Amino acid sequence: MPSGKEIKNSYPWGHDRRFNAYSNYFRGIYGARVQKVSIDAGFTCPNRDGTKGTGGCTYCNNDAFNPSYCEPVKPVSEQISEGIKFHKWRYNEAVSYLAYFQAYSNTYASVDHLRKLYTEALEYPGVIGLIIGTRPDCVDDEKLAYIKELSEKHYVAVEYGIESCYNKTLIRINRGHSFEEAVYSLEKTAALGINTGAHFILGLPGETRNEMLRQVSIISELPLKTVKFHQLQIIKGTAMESEYRNNPRDFELFTWEEYRDFFVSFLERLNPAIVVERFTGEAPPRFLAGEGWGKKRTDQIVNLIEKRLEELDTWQGRLYK
Ligand code: SF4
Repeated sequence: MPSGKEIKNSYPWGHDRRFNAYSNYFRGIYGARVQKVSIDAGFTCPNRDGTKGTGGCTYCNNDAFNPSYCEPVKPVSEQISEGIKFHKWRYNEAVSYLAYFQAYSNTYASVDHLRKLYTEALEYPGVIGLIIGTRPDCVDDEKLAYIKELSEKHYVAVEYGIESCYNKTLIRINRGHSFEEAVYSLEKTAALGINTGAHFILGLPGETRNEMLRQVSIISELPLKTVKFHQLQIIKGTAMESEYRNNPRDFELFTWEEYRDFFVSFLERLNPAIVVERFTGEAPPRFLAGEGWGKKRTDQIVNLIEKRLEELDTWQGRLYK
């Protein structure tokens, strides 16, 4: 078996980072950095408006994850303009942008309404595509046919919140859909040739570490182009915060070191063909009810996990079967 150093230039993703990284994936397609710009287009969610439920997922507080430049009262183009200014100031490098419809369920409206919002985003200079975050139960044939049409001319990905492969967990966190429904929507989307993404939370209550790890073999076989992982963070004001305060023993929140080592094991078993966008989530400390990981930023965490992969001379998919 060659060592990681010997095979580093022959990782199947074609660069020498030890995982199939999202930023490199876009550099590979467009030859330059591509930056996502978040948009809150004023959608709601069937798990909040009464269609499926009113309380939402037990961990949900969208404010904790929305950048400050997103305000649903502002038109999409204004949010993109402010987002581009914000990222230019931070990186001064991006040349192309993806409009990221992020807050709540961004396919939860009529096709006519979606068309208006998505078109406004795609017409903004420099925007080359869309990332559409949504729930698996918020798409249908008509919406997917429209998204497929868009994806023939632009980069378009539908990113589903799946969160866990276990129905017992999905019930417990009040997701309002099953894992099978998520797989159904994912397969339909992928079959149309639309890029698919998914989001999972590691550390949800009621799951053992072994169960969390075993999900990797299920995730590896899903028709996914990209995937995001977050460690569970308890956000103030959520139903999960009360659950946590009443029964802290039911939660096994990861310390940073535990998560780093767990995530390395997870990555080693993950299908190398799946592009990994995030290892962790980063809610601002003022939103956190539990202990955070100090002041580590996302980019520092990525560096630390990559360093760990190097120390252990391992990489994404090394143990993938
Ligand atoms: S589906 Fe998303 S927006 Fe809706 S309640 Fe759950 S986490 Fe919140």
